Amino acid sequence: MRISNVNNFLLGNTQAKVNSTNNVEHPYSTNSIKLDALKADTVSFGNLVPKTASLTKKTIMDLPKDLSGQRVFLRVDHNVSFKPGTSIIESDTRIRRSLDTIIELIKRNAKIIIGTHMGDPYKVVNDKPGKFVSTNIVAERLAELLKERGINTSIKHIPEAIGENAVAESKALKNGDILYLENLRRDPAETGSTAIVKDGKLVSETDSTAILKDEEWVSKELPKDKMDAYAQELAKLGDHYVNDGFGAAHRAHASTSLIANYIPGQKVAGLLMNQEYTELSKLINNPKRPFVAMIGGSKVSDKIKIMDNLISNVLKKGDTLVIGGGMSYTFTLAKGGEIGKSLSQPGMIETAQAIMKKAKEKGIELILPVDNVVADRFSNDANAKIVSSMKIPNGYEGLDIGPKTVEKIKEALDKSKTVFWNGPLGVYEFPNFANGTNSIGQHLVKITKENSAYTVVGGGDASTAMKKAGIKGFSYDCTGGGASLEFMEGKELPGIKLLDNA
Ligand code: AMP
Repeated sequence: MRISNVNNFLLGNTQAKVNSTNNVEHPYSTNSIKLDALKADTVSFGNLVPKTASLTKKTIMDLPKDLSGQRVFLRVDHNVSFKPGTSIIESDTRIRRSLDTIIELIKRNAKIIIGTHMGDPYKVVNDKPGKFVSTNIVAERLAELLKERGINTSIKHIPEAIGENAVAESKALKNGDILYLENLRRDPAETGSTAIVKDGKLVSETDSTAILKDEEWVSKELPKDKMDAYAQELAKLGDHYVNDGFGAAHRAHASTSLIANYIPGQKVAGLLMNQEYTELSKLINNPKRPFVAMIGGSKVSDKIKIMDNLISNVLKKGDTLVIGGGMSYTFTLAKGGEIGKSLSQPGMIETAQAIMKKAKEKGIELILPVDNVVADRFSNDANAKIVSSMKIPNGYEGLDIGPKTVEKIKEALDKSKTVFWNGPLGVYEFPNFANGTNSIGQHLVKITKENSAYTVVGGGDASTAMKKAGIKGFSYDCTGGGASLEFMEGKELPGIKLLDNA
């Protein structure tokens, strides 16, 4: 069994998810987990850590200083979250972080064509398709943010991403102006993974909104050539290509990767992409030690590869791996503990044992929770108490790490010089169970300031939790959860691979 197939074994979403009314859906409310096929002896410890400290690809600084009359297709990750049930942007960090690249292109007089995805209308979550969200709101926000920086560039949003009109609009742009395309994932050919199929027939390749109203649908693999055709259509919009969407760089999608095969001019990285790569590279190229890696979140199966790579290639004797969040209960089971009705993946027990064994052999300290805040139901208002992690009573589930665990992690952090953090340590969406995650976040800020530790929050839910709690001051906050995870797994990111070599 190969690890790369692991996601195929996950049925439904077993992790806690906040739905549109800001309630957290219980992780057990969906399908059961079938992971028994994944055994410890199949864990492949990779050796793919990038060897270079910085990007070996060209960046926008390598483009001509004067791009007058030339069109630049700029792929960004403006996939922002909205306040539940509204179209009010919750955090515009991703838009702000792309401003430097956009301003550089404006200064160079380029005609700028911006594309991003927003969610995934075709992604099946809890047996329901996602929602189509237009990019017009982010285009408006971008205009406001540029104005704040004293730039009055005109931004035109169009309701399509490809086609004759899009090409004509891109050509009609004035130098330094922006054409903002509709959500690139409006067309399932962008991701190529799923399409809406009815009665065995592909009914929509272009307009998800019409189809998503229909209840009778299933998802189906979309042929690869459809993705390629879509990439070719997108490529008609640019003479050059800039990829600044680090958050989507781990996806081999039409606009993040395939497009580079069809753009006639240069294919380069944006400033944010370059920064993300450079900062993350510091974690794997002679990091200062002790190094503490903290991995949390809901599922062991999602984080096996990163734990493998951390233990095998990044952490050394004297370093520490902290495991928290929903995935820690599978480790407690592996140690023979009782976990009540806590989230767990019994099929991953042997994998957890293999990870513990490997860490021990290498002299890497493994910190698992010693106490937990447990609740009698999956709710912020549940009856809660603090118990030993090895003896969670029947009828209770662990939703946060306890105070002794917080202290133990803090002690390890106090000695550390480098920290990487991916995944929350509890159900941070519930304020009553966010204390562990937030206390550790605050401590990270403290050691960044007082001990000059290099601290990186790897995007995703840990970054969301910090933003929600207003905790800031880390050495680096990544914009891409999945991308930073795959980077730290030692993988080459498809969004970077096809760019021109420096
Ligand atoms: P991930 O996407 O794997 O980083 O997981 C993030 C999710 O893990 C968040 O939605 C958290 O609510 C969830 N999570 C963290 N700790 C627990 C826990 N003890 N029980 C259930 N879900 C958890």
